[in-house]
Amino acid sequence: MLLLDGKSLSASLKEEIKATVEERVSQGFRPPHLAAVLIGNDGASETYVASKVRACEEAGFASTLIRREASISQEELLEIVHQLNKDPQIDGYIVQLPLPAHIHADTITEAILPQKDVDGFHPVNLGLMMQNKDCFLPATPKGVLTMLERYGIETSGKHTVVIGRSLIVGSPMSVLMARNTNPGNATVTLCHSKTQNLAEITRQADVLIVALGKPGFVTADMVKPGAVIIDVGITRVEDPTKKSGFRIAGDVDFESVKEVASAISPVPGGVGLMTIVSLLQNTLKAHANSLGI
Ligand code: NAD
Repeated sequence: MLLLDGKSLSASLKEEIKATVEERVSQGFRPPHLAAVLIGNDGASETYVASKVRACEEAGFASTLIRREASISQEELLEIVHQLNKDPQIDGYIVQLPLPAHIHADTITEAILPQKDVDGFHPVNLGLMMQNKDCFLPATPKGVLTMLERYGIETSGKHTVVIGRSLIVGSPMSVLMARNTNPGNATVTLCHSKTQNLAEITRQADVLIVALGKPGFVTADMVKPGAVIIDVGITRVEDPTKKSGFRIAGDVDFESVKEVASAISPVPGGVGLMTIVSLLQNTLKAHANSLGI
């Protein structure tokens, strides 16, 4: 069984990014600059944003964290977005989701300038992705593609089953796996909460990508022997033995599935780290675009 180790892969990709940044800076360009907007005090969001800011520092990027209380109005948040759109020093930025219930997340996402949308959530980027044109790919599905590519996993002609149809993971993942690209060229089945006979379908998967947010949901009996398993799930599960009081769990029952699969990505140490690398890669691309290099 091959462990799809996001930890070592993301570390080497970050080194590649850092080398590119050093080269650009040595040519006299300013470093790439990523901004993150964090609203409220959601524990998981705080952790994600802190990891993104740390990754920026490690890669030699400039980073700016904009924090506001959960009571911020939609108009005030839109004003921050407009300022970031206009700021020539900011190459790309993210507004960390989820947002408080009184803010319409789609309105915020759509207000982000597509050229600075390094999370790849804007409808313009999603549309360009559908057309297989140059764009910012959504960070998590892009991270999965990078993982498949770097580990040399063949996807052409294979049956890929994706569980979960969210706009940030499952739906774009299914589109990307079906495109005429490498990785891609797969025959794709997209499963969701209304899918019937799910296990029957997952047992046909050569590549199974799981993103539904239910810890340990995929068990060995749902997996074809030799399948490649990508676990996107990240859920905080109470664990009194941990100092923090919780542990991070994936959507796949790793212990049983690793006995059946030919390759599997762990949680933690898998796709989550690849998502951050995608964000850096997208920002590096935005930097090159904005400086015309
Ligand atoms: P979501 O809640 O928006 O979507 C969940 C999807 O799962 C839905 O489309 C739903 O139809 C499907 N689903 C729910 N129950 C199901 C069932 N019983 N059978 C089949 N399908 C079912 O979730 P999301 O935002 O896509 O996130 C999914 C998971 O991925 C979460 O654990 C989240 O934390 C994680 N995530 C990880 C990263 C990363 O960087 N690794 C990034 C984003 C999300």
